Amino acid sequence: MAEITSGRVGIMGGTFDPIHCGHLAAAEAAREAFSLDTIIFVPAGIPSHKDETEVTPARHRYLMTLLAIMSNPYFQISRVDLDRGGVTYTVDTLRDLRRELPADAAVYFITGADAILEILSWKEPGRALSLAEFIAVTRPGYGLEQLSQALGPLYEEFQDRIHILETPPMGISSTDIRRRLAEGRSVRYLVPETVLTYIRNHGLYGAAGER
Ligand code: ATP
Ligand code: MG
Repeated sequence: MAEITSGRVGIMGGTFDPIHCGHLAAAEAAREAFSLDTIIFVPAGIPSHKDETEVTPARHRYLMTLLAIMSNPYFQISRVDLDRGGVTYTVDTLRDLRRELPADAAVYFITGADAILEILSWKEPGRALSLAEFIAVTRPGYGLEQLSQALGPLYEEFQDRIHILETPPMGISSTDIRRRLAEGRSVRYLVPETVLTYIRNHGLYGAAGER
């Protein structure tokens, strides 16, 4: 990650298995709406709800993420979660990145609706909410009207630090992309071309080579 000196920073964590246009559009919408100077994409080590054998090796997810963000001068990538190793928890991501950022940086963690609705199951959720403000991006199939309920005891203290961002709905998920590839179906325009080429060249997700 290049040194970041400017003040408004978005952090987009995810398994990115693979990264898709829903991730990119959510990050770009957050950048524009919150006047962010930089968005740092942070591929997760092992996601807390998954087993190591269930995720594609980190080097592939890192390189696909790098390929996906390269054309956007506002986007960067960080290896903090990969280098720490083991299961990734957002609170650790934020703690580690905070150390690399200017002390007065305004830090926003960007999540989709599904992720924020599970916040009470996170490690140290209150601490995570103290380390960054949150941008909860709408996602088809997940209603953010349940957010106050999902926050439970954290609602009173932290509601002002969570901002809901309505974005053009993109019903894309990595799960769906993996399934399509395994079935030999098209994912063109759901992932960037560069990512699709990488997937084909490495035969990931059971994808066949270029036809
Ligand atoms: P999977 O199906 O494997 O869980 P995913 O598509 O949910 O993959 P993740 O890497 O789990 O992708 O998600 C990283 C972050 O991006 C999460 O905060 C998630 O909510 C958000 N996100 C993913 N897809 C979308 C989308 N289509 N619209 C808005 N947010 C999204
Ligand atoms: Mg997910």
